[in-house]
Amino acid sequence: MADEWVFPKGEIMRGKRGLVMGVANSNSIAWGIAQQLAAQGAELAFTYQGEALEKRVRPLVESIGAKTMLECDATNDEQLDAAFAQIEKQWGGMDFLVHSIAFSDKSELKGSFVENTTRENFLRTMDISAFSFVAAGKRAAKLMKNGGGMVTLSYLGAERVLPSYNVMGVAKAALEACTRYMARDLGPSGIRVNAISAGAMRTLAIAGIQGGRGLIQTGREWSLMKEDTSMEGIAGCALWLCSDLGRSTTGEVIHVDAGFHVVAVPSTGDANE
Ligand code: NAD
Repeated sequence: MADEWVFPKGEIMRGKRGLVMGVANSNSIAWGIAQQLAAQGAELAFTYQGEALEKRVRPLVESIGAKTMLECDATNDEQLDAAFAQIEKQWGGMDFLVHSIAFSDKSELKGSFVENTTRENFLRTMDISAFSFVAAGKRAAKLMKNGGGMVTLSYLGAERVLPSYNVMGVAKAALEACTRYMARDLGPSGIRVNAISAGAMRTLAIAGIQGGRGLIQTGREWSLMKEDTSMEGIAGCALWLCSDLGRSTTGEVIHVDAGFHVVAVPSTGDANE
């Protein structure tokens, strides 16, 4: 639950300004990350997807003393331009970008990938879940005059096969490849681009995947640590990557999943196995 999260306070992000994209409610991964960045002194701006989400997001944003909320559908170039123009006007530049956005039609996040995937939803899933990082990153990079850090959120379904994840796995694979190519292009400007491959978390996004709750349970039971992925762990990794602590790390996909991704066959707990 959101109110159980505890984020260490400090000064690591003092003087840094950045944009967080993808808060829908208090369970959103973007919100966990935002709270950690704010607890370390960052000044934050937020985008939200549309009017319907504004009333959920506004109280959260205000609770950490942030003022800038910009409507931005990630498929809309005019809204992207307007959001980054506003940030430039307000701050003159920025230091970090958190991209925590994904979408696919949930009728295709179940059953057969081959049978259920339509061209229309394949392209839409890629647009919102992969290309939007490139679109936002391109605009953010122009404002990162002193270098910076960009972070996106991925999942193990990019690398390995899971039930129901289907076209979203394909989009996450593209997102991870985008991360590497963005890191190549932006590296000479001192901008680092990384992805966090997070373990399954109880959010709106996972509710759209058939059996999504089962992914959380399996993640816990199979993981090396035998526990759920924590929001603190994901937010801590994002803090490292967005801050100067992450200097020299770029083009990377970092797993924050209690060790789930390395397991081929889970331990049974039998001392003789
Ligand atoms: P969430 O539903 O809270 O966040 C998803 C966000 O995407 C929402 O804020 C939504 O408004 C935004 N979004 C969707 N379509 C958009 C559009 N067209 N324009 C702008 N915004 C749009 O769920 P979450 O789990 O916090 O997801 C955040 C990211 O983390 C996603 O990329 C997701 O794939 C990834 N992720 C989630 C898990 C998990 O188990 N929940 C695990 C690994 C990675």
